[in-house]
Amino acid sequence: MRWILLGSYLLLTVGPVGAQLYSDGLLQAKQAKDSANLQFTVTELLSSASPEVRDKLRNVTVVSPARSPVDPDFPLGFFSNSAAQEIIIPVQSKKFFNDYLVLRAWFEKRGCDQTSVASYLAIVMTRRPESRSVGSPLDAFGVSESNAIQVQYVDSVSLGNLNSGMKFILAHELGHIYYGDGIADTLEDQIAREERADAFAMDILAAAHERPYGVVPLFSATRFNDPSMEHAPFGTHPLSHSRLDALAGRLRRVPEQFFSPQQDADKERERTFRLANEIDKIVVALRHEEFVRARDELVREYPPSTFKLACR
Ligand SMILES: [Zn+2]
Repeated sequence: MRWILLGSYLLLTVGPVGAQLYSDGLLQAKQAKDSANLQFTVTELLSSASPEVRDKLRNVTVVSPARSPVDPDFPLGFFSNSAAQEIIIPVQSKKFFNDYLVLRAWFEKRGCDQTSVASYLAIVMTRRPESRSVGSPLDAFGVSESNAIQVQYVDSVSLGNLNSGMKFILAHELGHIYYGDGIADTLEDQIAREERADAFAMDILAAAHERPYGVVPLFSATRFNDPSMEHAPFGTHPLSHSRLDALAGRLRRVPEQFFSPQQDADKERERTFRLANEIDKIVVALRHEEFVRARDELVREYPPSTFKLACR
């Protein structure tokens, strides 16, 4: 499994337990449906993979515990267990990703500045003290999911990003299982494994002619796991500049792999380049040497008390 730096995790979580983002009841109600849907997506992804890959991964199952078994409060944790041929997608992680995507689309549609959303992510992803009371993405900003998804744009954009992002995550985990990855001894080795799993995911998505646009919101949230940053060890799948560069590079090198031959090639190539540009923007933000300090200023400037007024 990939419970990296479990020791420091245990040390650092002695103390007050964070308030839950979602109730047990809400998460448990989603469990059966989540694992069935995700299992279906894995089958679908593998159906266009090579016979060798398909055969090696045919027994992979998706397990959806309510919360992460290793780190129950972490909002975006996805795992694999190569020995057990299991992908572990906590219901809470998928729900958090969904709610963040609804919030993003809601802000986009209404033309609101998303800086306060970045402040929210900085708080929950790095478990600042404010995370104990800030709540789920939609609660924090006082947005009702049922109201938000009545807006066609919000519904279709958030759902598209969720499906695309989950496909990338599942394909990445399939990569870890394909290579039999376990815990790496060093951060360098771990990042090398992440890049190999990403490349595997891109192969799987290319075979299915899927453009992985869900990686932009996914990595916008998980960029707070960058190993160069404080608290980063909480994250699984450490993000790095080189991971993002490799993804964007692949999209630019062979854009036609990520759409179907039946689609308008000029238009789709342009969209694929735009996606690569969006990934570059995350790299720029990460490379910013002031990122950690900027994050503290961000939260000071946009504290949780301002969230509900951010997009009225
Ligand atoms: Zn990984």
